[in-house]
Amino acid sequence: MTMQQLTGNLFMISAPSGAGKSSLIQALLAQHADMQVSVSHTTRAPRPGEHDGVHYHFVSVDHFKQQIEAGEFLEWAEVFGNYYGTSRHKIQQARQQGIDIFLDIDWQGARQIRQQEPSAIGIFILPPSLSALEQRLRTRGQDSDDVIAKRMAKANDEMSHVDEYDYVLINDDFQQSLASLSAIVLSQRQRLAQQQLRQAKILHQLLAKSSD
Ligand code: GDP
Ligand code: ADP
Ligand code: 5GP
Repeated sequence: MTMQQLTGNLFMISAPSGAGKSSLIQALLAQHADMQVSVSHTTRAPRPGEHDGVHYHFVSVDHFKQQIEAGEFLEWAEVFGNYYGTSRHKIQQARQQGIDIFLDIDWQGARQIRQQEPSAIGIFILPPSLSALEQRLRTRGQDSDDVIAKRMAKANDEMSHVDEYDYVLINDDFQQSLASLSAIVLSQRQRLAQQQLRQAKILHQLLAKSSD
C-alpha cells in the first residue's frame, strides 16, 4: 500500500507526566469507535492495575534492544531512565483501515515521527499550574515519592518543547479539555486532503460532469 492510502490521522500527544493525557485519550476513545491509542513497548515496571498488552507491552531491556535492532519501532526514546517505543506495524495496519491513531509519546519521540511523517498532528497538554501537576501525580497514587520528584523535576524540560506542537490544551476543567480535544480531532478529519481520501466516492459522484 502506498502512503496515500493511509487515511487514518496520526496524533501525537505529549505532556508532562500527570497533566492528564492518558485520562483525556481514554475519555475521547470512549466516545469514538474509529480511534485507537497505540500501545507502546516499555521497559518500566507495570504500575498497580496496569496490564501487559493493554496499557503497555512490558518487556525486558534485552528484548527492547532486539526490537530496536530489528527496526520494529517507528520511534523510541529513553524517558525517566526507561525505554519507550512505538511499534511500526500496528499503526500502519490501523491507519490503512481509516482509524485515527493516538500516540502518547514524549517530545523526543514526536520529533522522530515528524521527520518521517510531516502530516502527523502534535497536541501538547499543559496543567493549569505546577502545584496542580504535583497534586495530580499524588492523587493518582501510583508512583512513589521518589518517582514523583523525578517526574516533577522533568516537567519543565518537557514543557519547554511546547512550541514544537500544533495545538496546546490547558487541562484545567476536564470536560472542557475533552471537548477541545474532540474538536481538534474532528476538525482534522474535515480537511480537504482527508475528505478526498475518506469520501472519494461521494466527491467523485457529486463532482462528475453532467452529461447534457
Ligand atoms: P505518564 O507520563 O504518567 O503517562 O507516564 P508513562 O510512564 O505512561 O509515560 C512516560 C513517558 O514516556 C511519557 O512522556 C510518555 O509520553 C512517554 N512515552 C510513552 N510511550 C511512548 C512511546 O512509545 N514513545 C515515546 N517516545 N515516548 C513514550
Ligand atoms: P498523564 O497520562 O498525563 O500522566 P493522567 O491521565 O494519568 O496523566 O492524569 C493524572 C491524574 O490527574 C489522574 O489521577 C487523573 O484522574 C487526574 N486528572 C486528569 N485531568 C484532570 C483535571 N482536568 N482535573 C483534575 N484532575 C485531573
Ligand atoms: P509513564 O511511565 O508514566 O507511563 O510514561 C512516562 C512518559 O513516557 C510519558 O510522558 C509518556 O508520554 C512517555 N511515553 C510512553 N510511551 C512512549 C513511547 O512509546 N515513546 C515515547 N517516546 N514516549 C513514550
